[in-house]
Amino acid sequence: MNFQQIEFYTSFGVSSQLPGESTPEIVFSGRSNVGKSSLLNKIAGRKNLARVSSMPGKTATINFYTAAPGYFVDLPGYGYAKVAKTEKQRWAQLMEHYFHSQRDIRLVIQLVDMRHPPSADDLNMINFLIDGGYPFLIALTKSDKLTKNQQAKRLEELAGEIPCGDQVTLVPTSAQTGVGIETLREIIEDVFID
Ligand code: GDP
Repeated sequence: MNFQQIEFYTSFGVSSQLPGESTPEIVFSGRSNVGKSSLLNKIAGRKNLARVSSMPGKTATINFYTAAPGYFVDLPGYGYAKVAKTEKQRWAQLMEHYFHSQRDIRLVIQLVDMRHPPSADDLNMINFLIDGGYPFLIALTKSDKLTKNQQAKRLEELAGEIPCGDQVTLVPTSAQTGVGIETLREIIEDVFID
């Protein structure tokens, strides 16, 4: 798979059409500021494919990228405290619409900041994925901010903090050092081929 050829395709808002449903998709999910845009850019080997936001909580859209043979789907970040109630409702509406259309979701890459226990919103999302039977893994972001010892400790703790944490694949990543990026690329290629 040629990760350098990933391109922005379209944004899905409440009033627009979702792209076709039979194309395999890799979904990226996480709270605002977790490092989702940075990770997407790193996987694609590009600087500005996804916008790294200095302003979290911007209007929610689901962004689709062509990543032959499928799509990368960037879900709007959640959990930004200052977002208005109407915007939260919009987010929920978008998510419902997306997940309730019949889609070929091959993998959800759920991002969690490696330094902290998952937030209540993270846990909601993870439980939603478990309940819906969606295949997912957890990409732990910003691992460069921890020492090797701290990382080992957090990995152990996270296995207990995440629902079914001992059965979920946890991949430490860093958009800064590139740790974990090749692992994610290999997993993505595998699930696209299957
Ligand atoms: P998003 O809101 O989830 O898309 O998060 P962004 O990608 O915009 O990143 C939020 C902030 O975290 C930015 O200041 C990034 O530079 C920083 N950041 C993202 N990934 C990493 C990482 O792996 N390591 C470090 N040290 N900072 C990161």
